[in-house]
Amino acid sequence: TKDNILPKDVPRDKLLGGLLAAGFDEGSCLSRYQSVLYRKESPHIPSPYLLEKLRKHEALQKRCGPNTELYNKAIKQLKPLGKREKRKQFKLGYSNEPTECSYLTLIPFSGLGNRIVSLTSAFLYALLTNRVLLVDGDAGIGDLFCEPFPDTSWLLPQDFPARNQFRSLGRNSPECLGSMLKNKVIGNGINGSSNGPLSPYVLLYLVNGYSDFDQLFFCEDVQRPLQKIPWLVVTSNQYFAPALFFIPTFEEELSRLFPERETVFHHLGRYLFHPTNPVWGLITRSYESYLAKADERVGLQIRVFNGRTSPVEYLDRILKCALKEKLLPNISLNGPAASTSTGARSKVVLITSLDSTYFEKVRSMYWEHPTVTGEIISVYQPSHEGVEQTGKTMHEMRAWAEIYLLSLSDALVTSTWSTFGYVAQGLAGLKPLITLIPDNPDCRGAMSMEPCFHFPPFYGCKANTSVDAGVVLPYVRHCEDMKNGLKLV
Ligand code: GDP
Repeated sequence: TKDNILPKDVPRDKLLGGLLAAGFDEGSCLSRYQSVLYRKESPHIPSPYLLEKLRKHEALQKRCGPNTELYNKAIKQLKPLGKREKRKQFKLGYSNEPTECSYLTLIPFSGLGNRIVSLTSAFLYALLTNRVLLVDGDAGIGDLFCEPFPDTSWLLPQDFPARNQFRSLGRNSPECLGSMLKNKVIGNGINGSSNGPLSPYVLLYLVNGYSDFDQLFFCEDVQRPLQKIPWLVVTSNQYFAPALFFIPTFEEELSRLFPERETVFHHLGRYLFHPTNPVWGLITRSYESYLAKADERVGLQIRVFNGRTSPVEYLDRILKCALKEKLLPNISLNGPAASTSTGARSKVVLITSLDSTYFEKVRSMYWEHPTVTGEIISVYQPSHEGVEQTGKTMHEMRAWAEIYLLSLSDALVTSTWSTFGYVAQGLAGLKPLITLIPDNPDCRGAMSMEPCFHFPPFYGCKANTSVDAGVVLPYVRHCEDMKNGLKLV
């Protein structure tokens, strides 16, 4: 079955410039090598150094992944010692046998867009620190995404011995990095302490509202003691990748990996996130039925966070923007009744929203009036789920299918603050027009295709300094849609 899936006449770089590893079973994850049939070739070429790093990382995931000998050795560290062993080893509760592999376990949460951006950031950190990435699969990950690494699994095994321990960790746990720094259990080079940590695992709590101590994660002096910890647990719903550039040793490596800094999510996202076959079915059926035939596809992602303004008002703002920026043609109120001719250009507007009001209005607008340009406009919205239902498999599959469909657009209009939109723009490699920015009646063209890190640290690794993080590096700037946020440009 392996080779006959792709039509013969497709000029195929199905490995996306070497980004994807060859050798996966194609049938088990059709999207991995078929995406090339649906998505335009990216003008952004991954650096040879990134490709080399990815291949090395795949080997690491395979060598140290679940159920390997090295993994079995590493999980022994997580089992508390009995009293006798404790006495024998003069140790504080856990075995301290050195392990060859170290791990980064991610517990993603929030909506799908948030989970995707935090996963990408965690993967980047794992790449930089040579850690094996394992993801808590109960967040629906296995239903939505194919395995990204060959011959192994990135899902935390069901029988993982410290599963419940890891899940019960929070910002106040003694194993949380912030608590450890505060209590001087781990040294940060400033407070001068350190006997070494008492536990084989440390929680990195990277969530909005995290403490100043937790934010020290983004400092070089704190990265050093973390290297010795075999198990790091990340709880995050944030795109924290931009702040990794603040750590000088990472910055150097990151510049080699991503000479074009705004492509971090673009490359890593296309490397990691391949829809499973059921989701790929949703995507390809939608695409073939409604999107393929149009000359141009415009994605309108409408995500409304505060319900104070009416949908009609919102739509007004969004349309004004799309018309002004010429993504959509205006309608002619007194033009000829029929302006169509067989040669007219066609555009399809793909709308994604929890609500169907926008779709109805845009469709009626283009049904009831001709366009001033003579273009034929069709409008499609795959679903309107009403409310967010994170955790329900079919709902999540639809959400993922819609993000992916948006990412096949030729132009995108997204909504302020939305990670759902960030993922679409990043996968597409497009700078969107961002709408619904509070107190701003207009939309704004994005500076880059990168997601925004909504709650970055207040920059300042040395005691008592706090610097505006948006002016430290020329390519880490404040976001268009969140003034304290940071993004790569
Ligand atoms: P954000 O809240 O906009 O940053 O995006 P998230 O993806 O993190 O969370 C929003 C969640 O609401 C999604 O994961 C979906 O479950 C749901 N949702 C929001 N907008 C849409 C949409 O346009 N289509 C679908 N199918 N679901 C949506």
